[in-house]
Amino acid sequence: MTYDIDKIRSNFPILHQEVYNKPLVYLDTAASAQKPVQVLMKLEQLHNEYYGNIHRGAHFMADKATVEFEEVRNKIQAFINAKSRKEIIFTKGATESMNLVASSFCEKYLNKGDEIIVSEMEHHSNIVPWQMAAQRYGAKVVKLSFNDTGILEIEKLSELISEKTKLIAVNHVSNVLGTVNPIEEIIAIAHKNNVAVMIDGAQAAPHIKLDVQKLDVDFYAFSAHKLYGPNGVGVLYGKEKWLSEMPPYQGGGQMISEVSFEGTTYNELPYKFEAGTPNISSLAAFGAAIDFLIEIGIENIAEWEHELLDYATSKLKDVEGIKFYGEAPGKSGVISFNIEGIHFYDLGMLLDKMGVAVRTGHLCADTVMAHYNMQGCIRISFGMYNTKNEIDVFLAALNKVRMMF
Ligand code: PLP
Repeated sequence: MTYDIDKIRSNFPILHQEVYNKPLVYLDTAASAQKPVQVLMKLEQLHNEYYGNIHRGAHFMADKATVEFEEVRNKIQAFINAKSRKEIIFTKGATESMNLVASSFCEKYLNKGDEIIVSEMEHHSNIVPWQMAAQRYGAKVVKLSFNDTGILEIEKLSELISEKTKLIAVNHVSNVLGTVNPIEEIIAIAHKNNVAVMIDGAQAAPHIKLDVQKLDVDFYAFSAHKLYGPNGVGVLYGKEKWLSEMPPYQGGGQMISEVSFEGTTYNELPYKFEAGTPNISSLAAFGAAIDFLIEIGIENIAEWEHELLDYATSKLKDVEGIKFYGEAPGKSGVISFNIEGIHFYDLGMLLDKMGVAVRTGHLCADTVMAHYNMQGCIRISFGMYNTKNEIDVFLAALNKVRMMF
């Protein structure tokens, strides 16, 4: 593989700086990825050259912005191989995508006594919306557990499913454990039982080439900011058969067909789910991020990140007192751990002072923390721009901290 890391890094101005007089080592891409110049330039270009509100303007700039906005929808459709552009709903991010389904799908299909199966390794954004919906409709959230290696116990899934089950919510890749879940298998089991599946793809979309038709998934969510795009925008993919039956999520401009005091009719898909002025500039820049990702190649990025993951894991294994969380085979590029005798916040803060940015805390995954009976941990995560040299800098900094304690 020819992976020109120097060329890739040259696209990310933010990486070439010092923090606390130390070269920045950014190992927190799973929280949010840095943005290439192509994305930053698009944000600026739209604001400088053709900013206007979309879909409703009758002037040059509004038209140009609208065309670009809708082209991004086509790009996303191709990026995940959706059957129709009607199935691509723009949201604020993965969190809003999950909330949209929890609100609209549950309003239509969830009844008293029904059940939603949610995995134990979910980000809060794929647990809480289901709990809220369950509370609203008198339904129940049922846990699908994982084992200590970080593998979902899907052999128990069939037993958990009953005629009361309406939906299964699970992530494609865990933000703490890095586990790549066998979602094809989960979807097949669910569909055999006429159950819909919501996949949280926030940590998968930047690393795994997606084909929603092949997956046969009902709903799939992801955020632009983890895909090297801007924050505040994301996608909900939903099968047309569901989206056309589900009631709107929010009311407002653009989601209507006609409004009167006698009643309102709703717009066609995907606009039925896109009330109000969207984040026009960020969506345009999301398109630039997708172009950039396609140019480099998701598979090439994944291969590079796996090399980094193997390198860092093999070195970290030698660190005395280290405990890893998530060791599933074929895991994605995140490593979560604690070191005996060092509080994760102290470790994170001291690494930061040496220029190394890592994530610390519960990682928005309290149920994963509870599984391992811990309050929090450290997570390092890799993006397309990280290097083995940066991992060496991180390891040296980690060693320094260990010497201090
Ligand atoms: N799901 C997973 C697995 C995540 O890692 C995250 C963010 O870290 C989210 C959902 C929520 O994403 P956002 O905050 O962009 O909506």
